Amino acid sequence: MNRSLFIQKLEDVNEFDICIIGGGATGLGTALDAASRGLKTVLFEQYDFAKGTSSRSTKLVHGGVRYLQQGNIKLVMEALRERGLLMKNAPHLVHNQKFVVPNYKWWEKPFYGIGLKIYDKMAGKLGLGASRLLSKEETLQLAPTLDPEDLKGGVLYHDGQFDDARLAISIAQTATEQRATLLNYFPVIGLLKMQQKICGVWVKDFFTGKEYEVKSKVVINATGVFTDALMRMDDIKHENIINPSQGIHLVVDKEFLPGDTAIMIPRTDDGRVLFAVPWHDKIVLGTTDTAVSAVSAEPVPLQEEIEFILKHIGRYLSKDPQLNDVRSMFAGLRPLVKTKGKKTAALSRDHLINVADSGLITITGGKWTTYRKMAEDVVDIAIEQAGLQQNSCITKELKLNGYDKPVAAAEITSLNNEELKAAIKKSVEKEMCMTVEDFLSRRTRQLLLNANEAVKAASQVAKLMAEEMNKDEIWIKEQINNFNALAKNYQPKSN
Ligand SMILES: Cc1cc2nc3c(=O)[nH]c(=O)nc-3n(C[C@H](O)[C@H](O)[C@H](O)COP(=O)(O)OP(=O)(O)OC[C@H]3O[C@@H](n4cnc5c(N)ncnc54)[C@H](O)[C@@H]3O)c2cc1C
Repeated sequence: MNRSLFIQKLEDVNEFDICIIGGGATGLGTALDAASRGLKTVLFEQYDFAKGTSSRSTKLVHGGVRYLQQGNIKLVMEALRERGLLMKNAPHLVHNQKFVVPNYKWWEKPFYGIGLKIYDKMAGKLGLGASRLLSKEETLQLAPTLDPEDLKGGVLYHDGQFDDARLAISIAQTATEQRATLLNYFPVIGLLKMQQKICGVWVKDFFTGKEYEVKSKVVINATGVFTDALMRMDDIKHENIINPSQGIHLVVDKEFLPGDTAIMIPRTDDGRVLFAVPWHDKIVLGTTDTAVSAVSAEPVPLQEEIEFILKHIGRYLSKDPQLNDVRSMFAGLRPLVKTKGKKTAALSRDHLINVADSGLITITGGKWTTYRKMAEDVVDIAIEQAGLQQNSCITKELKLNGYDKPVAAAEITSLNNEELKAAIKKSVEKEMCMTVEDFLSRRTRQLLLNANEAVKAASQVAKLMAEEMNKDEIWIKEQINNFNALAKNYQPKSN
């Protein structure tokens, strides 16, 4: 991926077939789907790829045991199918993860045991392994830090686990191989219209300020929680369709859950699911579901959300994690589609596709797990809408870039200077890494795994990036300052 060559394409291509706004899971998946059908495709992301919700998930590729509880069979079936496809097409970033549901009440074992058998059945041939009932001893063998008092046993089941931002980059690289043009740090600042119909977008290069008019036969809005802002660009009278809901995660050391089994608590006091999942040699704890009124690219965990997770996970572990055990914390916003009078935890995780009178196509909602299917659905509609060449979708069988290669380090703390230099060079040359934040937050996952270590590494990373990108001292200083300011949101206050 080469940003300068992509910018050149904006000048060279007279009209694209499909223009996608938003470089998260949905937008990148859509770009890959469209390009692999032979359509001339361009995508614009206002910040970095996956800077939004798509780098802030619980990192599960799952059918969603909770949606089964809610009776949303269609969503679970679809997600389980997609889980199986993703395991095949991105084995470098998605793996089979064992989960234990601990049972502290007599009825939980038969209840969750039966539920998870149904979950297995629904996955069919794409299942990841049979669920089974566990004795108390077996449960403690798999999850030795579970509180043994009153523990009756557990249920073991399997789901998928992944690295979200790395998968986003892998999808972007695959889309590039299919000849898509992808630009990060390129906000869409307006929509082009001819006789009330959308015929392209106005974009601006964040770094140079230069503006471009980009023509396209169809425009797709895949902006997650920013969906309504984009729809308002099209129709000033548009009324919001998104109820943003914040979810946070806390990251702690492996000692709180040694081994390779995750814990799933199906029902907290207020009806939420709570996870403790091993991820890159750390444990991710989460999540919450807090309705928020304003959307931001950099949402911040609320004090009560932090307390909620620590308090609830503490009930299930023999050693309670405290605030100063938290190595990093991160917040993301779910783009939930509005349904009157429902609490956010009960709102549908299904996706929605809307075609406006102007021709603007909006796709929103859904989950990371179902990004491929969402992309297939929206490109089918776009082809129909704009009368584009009818080629069928091939992404079910398409291997994602890097599937046969070793994966890059998620934490950089163990790298020596030469290794770090090589990692930076690769990110800058091949992955459109533009800032210190891009490198420490999404090309590696240092910021999410250990925020203090990320801050310590920032100046060395800035210097090495400057050498690679031919930048001066002012750039280095600015990058370090920007990163340190941002990292404060990831460092628990008592540290
Ligand atoms: C706490 C939490 C946990 C989750 N856990 C899971 C999980 O474990 N598994 C799972 O399957 N799903 C999970 N999800 C859901 C999943 O993360 C989201 O459904 C998915 O990431 C949404 O992707 P998106 O591309 O629609 O949105 P985003 O990732 O937010 O992407 C939208 C992009 O549009 C860009 N944009 C906005 N306006 C403009 C503009 N004017 N010009 C250019 N670009 C613009 C934004 O910068 C942003 O990058 C979770 C969600 C949350 C919040």
